[in-house]
Amino acid sequence: MKIFKFGGASVKNADSIKNVAKVLQNEGLNNKLVVISAMGKMTNAFEEIVNSYCDKSENLTNKISHVRDFHYSILNDLFLNKSHSIYITVEQLFAQMSEFMAQNKLKDYNYIYDQIVSNGELLSTLIVSAYLSEIEIKNTWIDVRDFIKTDSSYRDAQVAWDLTNEIISNEIDINELTITQGFLGGSEGKTTTLGREGSDYTAAIFAYCLDAESVTIWKDVDGVLNADPRHFQDTTLLDVISYEEAIELAFYGASVIHPKTLKPLENKLIPLQVRSFLNLEKKGTIVQKGIGISPKVPCFILKEKQILISISALDFSFMVEHNLSDIFKELHKYRLKVNSIQNSALSFSVCVEDNFNNINKFLKEIKVKYKVIYNENVTLFTIRHFDTKTISEIEKNHKVLLKQISTETIQIVVE
Ligand code: ADP
Ligand code: ASP
Ligand code: MG
Repeated sequence: MKIFKFGGASVKNADSIKNVAKVLQNEGLNNKLVVISAMGKMTNAFEEIVNSYCDKSENLTNKISHVRDFHYSILNDLFLNKSHSIYITVEQLFAQMSEFMAQNKLKDYNYIYDQIVSNGELLSTLIVSAYLSEIEIKNTWIDVRDFIKTDSSYRDAQVAWDLTNEIISNEIDINELTITQGFLGGSEGKTTTLGREGSDYTAAIFAYCLDAESVTIWKDVDGVLNADPRHFQDTTLLDVISYEEAIELAFYGASVIHPKTLKPLENKLIPLQVRSFLNLEKKGTIVQKGIGISPKVPCFILKEKQILISISALDFSFMVEHNLSDIFKELHKYRLKVNSIQNSALSFSVCVEDNFNNINKFLKEIKVKYKVIYNENVTLFTIRHFDTKTISEIEKNHKVLLKQISTETIQIVVE
């Protein structure tokens, strides 16, 4: 059996949903479990609903209308019969969301986030499943929250592997075409999420538990490129990547694969394919057991909106083990993602990403004990398999704030 994952870009409008059906018809309709993300940029739109709700903002109704209109316009394009039951199903989801907002008393932002944002995946999978049935592609829709069980770390839920494995391996019919949601999990009757872009990880969880033959992530690009085509011209398609290399690329932020996806696949040697949903005849990229990448070219990873923080002791004492461990404890406490570090006798520099809006709290706390200088909104370039030409290119065009070199990887923080 094979696991397919379709991201937001592959279900962004009625035509792309029709294309998903085409991909499935082309690849065979049996022995598939299909993981689908929220449509287009709907997760961002749901995040705006969460923010308006939590801020008690007047624009909440507008934000809900935007999401609603988006889904209804797709429904209208896909279903000519306006009394199709999918209209009622969708209406019920919006009604449940409003009821949640009216009745919720809890203030926990992350909890609220997961209960609201998860509707993106529920809507997309219900609509795609109904459309497939409408065109006579038999499929079973399942609620992933009954299968992937997690702890209750909302927005960053950790999978309860043993329980999840038991449920999935016992309850999924591997002969059928199953449609389910990416990104979501369930914990004690509540919805959790696995972290932004987490649908790839969902596909890997199912693959692991079902001993799948392969996972295919369907993209609007030909496969994994050596750089983000939105930021770099002249990119090269990587044909083959080893698990280790893919883990390194994803870890440093190559947004094309979610970093948690690879470990479960590597453990069971399940190959991961990244293919274009627009060019079905192309082979794309395959991530499998082996060494390095082919072709061997420098790979660029660009991360924007980084914060470079330089920390030194107030009394000019050395930055050594005890204060470093102190700083790391604070970084961990405020869930700041560390992307690069550099240490000298008197100062410690760290390039972080503030995904949970905690940077000010962190800085306030750390400033009590240390001298702190920081630059917001800087960019981090990571280059795997760098050569001198690529480095000088970056240095020529930017003001370099930090540079860190190891055998295969260079990281450069620029203004
Ligand atoms: P999804 O629909 O799966 O969520 P995303 O929009 O998140 O898709 O990711 C696909 C986009 O990722 C591509 O259109 C491409 O612009 C971008 N991208 C960034 N880095 C890479 C890379 N190294 N290789 C291929 N695509 C990349
Ligand atoms: N819809 C979620 C997000 O945009 C999960 C995913 O697409 O992988 O982050
Ligand atoms: Mg995505």
